[in-house]
Amino acid sequence: MRFKPSLIALSVLALCTSVHAEDKVLNLYSARHYQTDEALYADFTRDTGIRINRIEGKEDELLERIRNEGANSPADVLLTVDAARLAKAHELGLFVPVRSKVLEARIPAHLRTEDWFSFSTRARVIVYNKESITPDSVRNYEDLAKPALKGKVCSRSGSHPYNLSLGAAIIAHQGDAKAEEWARGVVANFARSPKGGDTDQIKAVAAGECQVALANTYYVARLMRSTKPDEVKLMEKVGVVWPNQATTGTHINVSGGGLLKHAPHREAGIRFLEYLASDKAQRYFADGNNEWPVVEQVKVSNPALDALGKFKPDTLPVRNLAMYQVKAQMIYDRTGYR
Ligand code: FE
Repeated sequence: MRFKPSLIALSVLALCTSVHAEDKVLNLYSARHYQTDEALYADFTRDTGIRINRIEGKEDELLERIRNEGANSPADVLLTVDAARLAKAHELGLFVPVRSKVLEARIPAHLRTEDWFSFSTRARVIVYNKESITPDSVRNYEDLAKPALKGKVCSRSGSHPYNLSLGAAIIAHQGDAKAEEWARGVVANFARSPKGGDTDQIKAVAAGECQVALANTYYVARLMRSTKPDEVKLMEKVGVVWPNQATTGTHINVSGGGLLKHAPHREAGIRFLEYLASDKAQRYFADGNNEWPVVEQVKVSNPALDALGKFKPDTLPVRNLAMYQVKAQMIYDRTGYR
């Protein structure tokens, strides 16, 4: 069940801002709604004695809320998903730079900026209907735009951050003109108008409504781990390709967060960010929500991720994904990728 910020929760937060800074409390605004995150937070409190007050909300609502609260915001840390949204929080001036030897040592440079940090990665893969498509026909994102797939592609909205981030990566690697040509080709191949989330696209591929789609790996892995008979059946029909293995690597996106500019509990905030990069917390991300840790040496045990196997990820810095978001949206608008 999703926690709705209630009046009670709000008044708890109000109290927390009025007590002394040495009080062992952390106010966390989170757009992550994964059940396994509960254990992640409980462990932090056990290790540090710092209690977490959590406000959950939708990604854009949380940004808006922090902005409106301004200097009075009780929020110490914002956690959210997608590089584009983290970049937006940066552009709004919500974060404050953090210098941390722990974060710098553990998180690879391309997965952090001076004021926000990635804590897990997810890849955008191609899923295809095994009965009607060969994996060789969809080895690359570029293939989705080829005339051979006319009427066979389904997609969630182009305006969704996952597709904007992919568009941004294509712009970064190939330039605006090629990216626009690609988007135009994908739109020309649609089996239906964009709708639904990633899981809906996987289901449509399995049902034969379309033959190819894009999905984030944790949606694929979640279905792979499902024991519901209909979902087991569904996944028998679906194949997964790591796109662009011979070129730039598969596009990855991140979940992450940063310390907020007006954080009343700065020290607790930095400790929490450092905790998220610990082996233990990294394993929660991987095993709980089927994401990959950002800390390279962390070993995970997740049967679905194991089954998906190793792949070459695109190592484009996350800040570049952010840089080309607006361009990606303009290209999608021009090409009708709605
Ligand atoms: Fe998602």
